[in-house]
Amino acid sequence: MFRAWASELFTIFWVVLVAVIAGRIAEDFGFALWVGTLLYLLHHLVHANRLYVWMRGGRSGRVPAGTGIWEEIYYLIHKLRRRNKRRKKQLIRMLEQFRTATSALPDATVVLGARDEIDWFNESACRLLGLRKSDLGQNIGNLVRYPKFAEHLKNSRDSATVCIPSPVDEAMQLEVRVVPYGEDSRLLIAQDVTQLRFMERVRSDFVANVSHELRTPLTVLKGYMETLNEAGQDLPPSAYRKMVQRMVEQTGRMQSLVDNLLSLTRLESGPPKPAAVVRVPALLERLCKEANVAEANEHTPVRLKLDSQVSLLGNETDLHSAFANLISNAIKYSRPSDTVTVRWSQEESGAARLDVEDTGPGIPKEHIPRLTERFYRVEIEGCRNKSGTGLGLAIVKHVMSRHDAELLIASELGRGSRFTCLFPSSRVVPGADRGDPE
Ligand code: ADP
Repeated sequence: MFRAWASELFTIFWVVLVAVIAGRIAEDFGFALWVGTLLYLLHHLVHANRLYVWMRGGRSGRVPAGTGIWEEIYYLIHKLRRRNKRRKKQLIRMLEQFRTATSALPDATVVLGARDEIDWFNESACRLLGLRKSDLGQNIGNLVRYPKFAEHLKNSRDSATVCIPSPVDEAMQLEVRVVPYGEDSRLLIAQDVTQLRFMERVRSDFVANVSHELRTPLTVLKGYMETLNEAGQDLPPSAYRKMVQRMVEQTGRMQSLVDNLLSLTRLESGPPKPAAVVRVPALLERLCKEANVAEANEHTPVRLKLDSQVSLLGNETDLHSAFANLISNAIKYSRPSDTVTVRWSQEESGAARLDVEDTGPGIPKEHIPRLTERFYRVEIEGCRNKSGTGLGLAIVKHVMSRHDAELLIASELGRGSRFTCLFPSSRVVPGADRGDPE
């Protein structure tokens, strides 16, 4: 800095000196000084113009060559520009990172201005709120038109949330929160809570269903016990026996409900059991034999067709429970004159397949997708034994998913139903004896 001013003062000194000498020679000192000052001014004007052209030229212009104080000025501006450029690059990088991070956010984020106009939004906002680029500057209340949301926008507090359906898909539930920030801006955050709400509903339905299912046998048991308590000695032996028999039936029903619930819990959350080779043909032979003996008086024959001898890699207890459920359902929901066919086969792709087919009354189409839900039951006319827990097919589905298998249900009213378990070839073992665990 000092050097620059020294050089500038040196120039002024030279101008004055030349003006004095020229004034002496021309004998007009005032005019010579005037010319010197004019030249000095011209020198500054030239540099001021260079500075102007350089500044206007943006970043492409090269640093102009200067002398005296101008050299220093050019150098300082150049330094300042370089620093600004670095900062700008840094800011752009940070902005990019912020954009990438907010785009990756699964929640919709919208920046709202003072009049609730949209200033910015992330990609999730397009997906959840249906916002488009052309919506920038629009009032959010005109795009998300729910009275609950409008009310919330007006009176929102930091912690308050409101639940609304998504404008894109009514089935999607959004939890919206509006948080103030800065001078008069607000941040709108919308989270997809469809799955959460569904789980909450499933849980409350589940508790309601279990309570309902247990209440019926408990009421019956309580009724009989009260009767026995009050008039036990006066009852004729036949009535006494009948009551005890009904009580045993109801306790059995409660027990199977609890057993099924425990199996489901174990299948849902327990660790996977070690896989072993399960000889399915032998297992099916055993199950069909037992079913035929048990149902002998009812005349619903269970036919077994073993088109393949392949075994499966899996858990025998779970597979036994799933296959037994399918066979007992087929018998339970058929009339005595119907037949049940159990077929074990292998497809060309190598996948193994179990079909449990009956010629029973069939299931109305609209119920089929919901059959594997817990406690879901369909009232079927003409079935001899409709008592069930509604958990059998839920257990089958879970066992299948634990074996990477699929449960397919096909049914036609008046013609019968077919329940198919499709096991991938990776689970299939060529006809073998019981093997060691994996
Ligand atoms: P449940 O204990 O009631 O049998 P499941 O989960 O095993 O419970 O079955 C659910 C419902 O599916 C049953 O209530 C019944 O209406 C229907 N269902 C299952 N298997 C058959 C079948 N083979 N034929 C007709 N309906 C069936």
